[in-house]
Amino acid sequence: AKENGGPDAWCFFHADMTQAARARLELEARLRQALADGHMRLYYQPQIDIATGRVTGAEALVRWLDPVEGLISPARFIPVAESSGVIGPLGEWVMREACAQGQRWRNLGLPEITLAVNVSPHQFLLTDIVGSTAAALADAGFPAAQLELEITESALAKQPEEAMLVLRRLRQLGLRLAIDDFGTGYSSLAHLKRFPIDVLKIDQGFIRDIPHSADDMAISAAVIAMGHSMGLTVLAEGVETAAQLDFLRQRGCDHFQGYLCSRPLPVSAFEDFLRRSAQGPVMPVPSSQ
Ligand code: C2E
Ligand code: MG
Ligand code: MG
Ligand code: MG
Repeated sequence: AKENGGPDAWCFFHADMTQAARARLELEARLRQALADGHMRLYYQPQIDIATGRVTGAEALVRWLDPVEGLISPARFIPVAESSGVIGPLGEWVMREACAQGQRWRNLGLPEITLAVNVSPHQFLLTDIVGSTAAALADAGFPAAQLELEITESALAKQPEEAMLVLRRLRQLGLRLAIDDFGTGYSSLAHLKRFPIDVLKIDQGFIRDIPHSADDMAISAAVIAMGHSMGLTVLAEGVETAAQLDFLRQRGCDHFQGYLCSRPLPVSAFEDFLRRSAQGPVMPVPSSQ
């Protein structure tokens, strides 16, 4: 547009940018206010052991409950939170709320599960994630052994040496570490081997087209085999069909999350789900051949 257009074209482009920037600032301000007003909620999506059909954990996923707009998806506000720094206080709220909720469920005597909390790259690299996680656990009285932090490859790839130190200190708290959206970022396998992680979460993009995409099946099978050879637990994200689950079971994938079992649920619905799960498997398990 710069070569072809005259000054008018440039002005149009410029006005457009300004409008986008203004919209971002507005969203950032609204987000800060929503956090202060108590309009954020955590939803919980069950994580299932594929071999036993039992629930082993849940991922905490943030939603913004706007009085006018209703439920706003994190895809719309996490990027703004991340680039503006609001992710600092927002991420801290998520961590505290997840630990407090986990402890409430313990106090109710519900089945023991691991709670997985997403940690964004900014939060991981630029805030005192070790200190704030330790404080959230201590204040809630929630055991570190029941907490898992999900970190993306991009957070680790930028400064692998610094990332390594933070991961070690987090692990010393007694919690578990998962790599989220595995396969979408670029993390060197050499580094991956050295990182003190426990779980690989295969990105849902590789699961979606199973069993129609031979490539995605090959990639998923390779990630499962590689994860296991490194002593890691492997979880598949975004499992929506029985055919996908069958494939993952054949390949020995450990856990899954996805609409096939349940969408992310608000607290009361997840509580009902947990109560049912105390009775036995929440997913059918094929009888062994
Ligand atoms: P993620 O951590 O990879 O979370 C998985 C996303 O996949 C969730 O979307 C979940 O609702 C969705 N999902 C689960 N099962 C299925 C399925 O079977 N099919 C499909 N199509 N989707 C499924 P959600 O809740 O909209 O969150 C989107 C992303 O926003 C998350 O991706 C994560 O990167 C980010 N996010 C969510 N909550 C938080 C948070 O508390 N902190 C941070 N830093 N990021 C968060
Ligand atoms: Mg996640
Ligand atoms: Mg993910
Ligand atoms: Mg994702």
